[in-house]
Amino acid sequence: MPPFEPADAAQRSVERRKARAELKGQLSRLERDVVTTFDEAENTSDPILAGLRVDWFLRSLPGVGPTKATRILDRHGINPRATLGGLRAKQRAALRNEVVRLAERIQPASRQGIVVVIAGPTAVGKHTVIERVREIRPDIAMSVSATTRQARPGEHDGEDYFFVSDQEFDRLVREGELLEWAVVHGAHRYGTPRDAVLKQKSAGKTVFLEIDVQGARQIRESGIEALFVFIAPPTFDALAERLESRGTEDDAERQRRLATAVEELGARTEFDVVVVNDVVETAAREVVDLLEAYTPRGD
Ligand code: 5GP
Repeated sequence: MPPFEPADAAQRSVERRKARAELKGQLSRLERDVVTTFDEAENTSDPILAGLRVDWFLRSLPGVGPTKATRILDRHGINPRATLGGLRAKQRAALRNEVVRLAERIQPASRQGIVVVIAGPTAVGKHTVIERVREIRPDIAMSVSATTRQARPGEHDGEDYFFVSDQEFDRLVREGELLEWAVVHGAHRYGTPRDAVLKQKSAGKTVFLEIDVQGARQIRESGIEALFVFIAPPTFDALAERLESRGTEDDAERQRRLATAVEELGARTEFDVVVVNDVVETAAREVVDLLEAYTPRGD
């Protein structure tokens, strides 16, 4: 161990203070995404970010003064000296919802993009409707999910999904890299990468999440503002027929998917809108009209 040098220690302390001031400056000038920074602090090896006091973090945000920061900390029983990297899981989750709301207020809602959650039972034709919507509106981005299922012929890693191992999926969950995740059809895990969605949203893009009902619920609980669209079949029989004629699943898998479909259909009332996919063109136009009429709440 090198001898303790007071001059070195003082120098390091000055550097740390400078780096912290720079970080706060970036946050206040909106050069760094607020929510992403908050999330990164959980597992970072960067002592500046992990060691940033929560009240300083909050006070760097435009429109948040000492009184407001103290009120937020009090509300969640967080010690004023707590650091971003040292929050307990429950405090972190509660504070995160506040940070998401603050971030949406800082960046005017009109400049934020729209997150659109699209769910609906298997074989309802979600994908076809989405593809048609994106032909009409090529500016719309798709969130690419991570999944533990195998790629089907013709699917490409990084385009249709990120095909990952069970261990890699565990890591994504553990490190908080997923905005939501679920076991779908009782078989494989699927999850939405957090950063990509939040970045696209703050860059003003409209981003579609084609996920299942359990995932949609988690997005709602996360506090992120989103438009929730449920694609429904005209009738249950129509759905069963479509699944059969698609022929991509064996009998057991088809039965499993139909059982999930019954459950999912029951969740339609939890969504902002239900679009019936009888004719693809009509359903797609309906989604496009919804997007055009949608004004983010911004709160
Ligand atoms: P498939 O295996 O046919 O590609 O997808 C099955 C279902 O998984 C999709 O219909 C969709 O509802 C769901 N899914 C795909 N990606 C995600 C995801 O990131 N999160 C959740 N919760 N569900 C997903």
